[in-house]
Amino acid sequence: MKKYDRIKSVLKWINNYFTFFLLVAFVITCCTMLFVSILTETLGITLNAENISAAAKVTFWNVVLLSFLFTVIDTVRRKIMVDRPVKQITDAAEKIVQGDFSVRIPSRNQIGSDDTFNRIIDCFNKMAEELSSVETLRTDFIANVSHEMKTPLSVMQNYGTLLQSKDLSEEKRIEYAKGVTDGSRRMAEMMTNILKLNRLENQQIYPKVTEFDLGEQLCECLLQFESVWEKSSIEIDTDIAENVKIKADEELLSLVWNNLFSNAFKFTEEGGTVSVKLTATDNHAVVTVSDTGCGMSAEVGSRIFEKFYQADTSRSVQGNGLGLALVKRVVDIMHGEIGVESSVGVGTTFTVRIRRS
Ligand code: ADP
Repeated sequence: MKKYDRIKSVLKWINNYFTFFLLVAFVITCCTMLFVSILTETLGITLNAENISAAAKVTFWNVVLLSFLFTVIDTVRRKIMVDRPVKQITDAAEKIVQGDFSVRIPSRNQIGSDDTFNRIIDCFNKMAEELSSVETLRTDFIANVSHEMKTPLSVMQNYGTLLQSKDLSEEKRIEYAKGVTDGSRRMAEMMTNILKLNRLENQQIYPKVTEFDLGEQLCECLLQFESVWEKSSIEIDTDIAENVKIKADEELLSLVWNNLFSNAFKFTEEGGTVSVKLTATDNHAVVTVSDTGCGMSAEVGSRIFEKFYQADTSRSVQGNGLGLALVKRVVDIMHGEIGVESSVGVGTTFTVRIRRS
């Protein structure tokens, strides 16, 4: 096996360097012969066997020497300009294969360095960056899911243990059973949201486009929260333009309104107001959902579309921080825009702008 490898490397060496040596020798010989033949013709010199044999010997060794020199120069050039960057790139690629996504290749700024290598290095570094951010997202996502599941699970465990105690009053039994049901409902909700988000992110959902009345959809979604606003005495203010037909995926879009309304009611104190407004131009429909709730700071506002982000921990029992991530994804799929304006203690307004067709 070793012998075979050695033969292979010799053949490779011949292929790489000896071919180049022969090529240079051939070119120099041709040039020399051309030069000699033109010189003898123009000067009218006739060469005899003695002259030719003496000159041929000197020329032969000159050709060998020059070809050897060029081969050495080319070998060194190839080592520096080609082999070194190729080795850097393959070493880095091997590290990526082993799961080290932090590897980056410095770009080559040497004089005369090949720009193609810099382009490959640029692409490689971008690929490594992308892979490492995907990896961070994946590990963060797993950490977040496990963390979010722990809370309802431990609540359910506690209630389960309490339910096992003897001599429980009927009232306590119902309370503990409700605790178990609430915990499992929360987990089921979170799983549904994770699955929805996963399907949306992997683009397994292709919008089922139909034409429908957006105003009617908004009213239907809003009515689902009737019991909530009645319980908290929240006032509803609607200004919905009539006959605004749009071509979009009705089911996906209802996810957006349900999440925005649910947040508006969740973060608005008793006696507050939630307003819904719909305006339209020929090409776009604009929906604003405003509330007079607790509002949020600019820092919170910049993070609300992140997965699992929840600023208000006191109300976090009612959510899992996935609602707005879902909203953003749906709006993106529809090539729409979503914006938020909010001030602490005053309220929040979400504005969604979508194409009508
Ligand atoms: P959650 O399940 O916690 O509601 P969301 O993704 O829907 O998750 O919202 C993320 C965070 O954005 C919330 O925890 C809250 O801090 C903030 N937020 C969203 N809507 C409002 C609102 N209308 N008023 C104040 N804060 C809001």
